[in-house]
Amino acid sequence: MTDADPLRLLAVHAHPDDESSKGAATMAKYVAEGVQVMVATCTGGERGSVLNPALDRPEIWERLPQLRVEEMARAREILGVQQEFLGFVDSGLPEGDPLPPLPEGCFALVPTEEAAAPLVEIIRRFRPHVVLTYDERGGYPHPDHIKTHDISVVAFEAAGDPERYPDLGEPWQPSKLYYHMTFTLTRVRALHEAMVEVGADSPYAEWLANWDPERDMSSRVTTRVPCAEYFPVRDAALIAHATQIDPNGRWFACPMDVQQRVWPTEDYELARSVVDSTLPEDDLFAGIRSEVPVP
Ligand SMILES: [Zn+2]
Repeated sequence: MTDADPLRLLAVHAHPDDESSKGAATMAKYVAEGVQVMVATCTGGERGSVLNPALDRPEIWERLPQLRVEEMARAREILGVQQEFLGFVDSGLPEGDPLPPLPEGCFALVPTEEAAAPLVEIIRRFRPHVVLTYDERGGYPHPDHIKTHDISVVAFEAAGDPERYPDLGEPWQPSKLYYHMTFTLTRVRALHEAMVEVGADSPYAEWLANWDPERDMSSRVTTRVPCAEYFPVRDAALIAHATQIDPNGRWFACPMDVQQRVWPTEDYELARSVVDSTLPEDDLFAGIRSEVPVP
């Protein structure tokens, strides 16, 4: 790795705060190793709620879009990453039966080829070796998360092709595309059992009881990145999204030492690769590091 051409990692996320709950410790670890890390945030999170009871006040709701930009700026500093908004509008999480239609002009309704354009531009400018995104189900059934997956796959495949998006910069082919595999049954069950063992009050019991094993992603994990020493950085970044997280809620219920001991990694599925690497991996840059010229 050289100063002239360091390794680069691009994480594509749907809303401000998603970067702090999925892969944040991985990013902090790579930043500490000298990797350049960029977060591309598809939407401004304008349709999010105030999820922190201590901040659930009218003056907070009024300023929510601006507050989310400010919170993102704090999280960006804590994680040590660069970050850009792609400029799409949050689709909101439709609720009810039947589901209401998505709001006009929202991210999820933008045709995928068109919505991928600003991401292609970032890939060609930032030239990441590795791109992180969500799996095809969004990792969480929010229309913006599924759209984030869709545009990431299109951009990964198009950015290196000079015939696609010809006006958006010099072609650049990232080497690897990964999906976050953060909430696997295996991990949540391990954390739950460890909490029960130390006599802590586990928030996961109900979640586990309702978990459809058919929808578990554990078997898809190809890559486990050891990053336990950066879990506190992850939590600090998450807390910076003050309107979006209850500091007394489920996210922080599992004691830090239990997490670090029981599940010291963040996990991924290698979805596309143009380089050779041996699975399972413990490094997102496996197969790439040797290709970057050393002085
Ligand atoms: Zn989100």
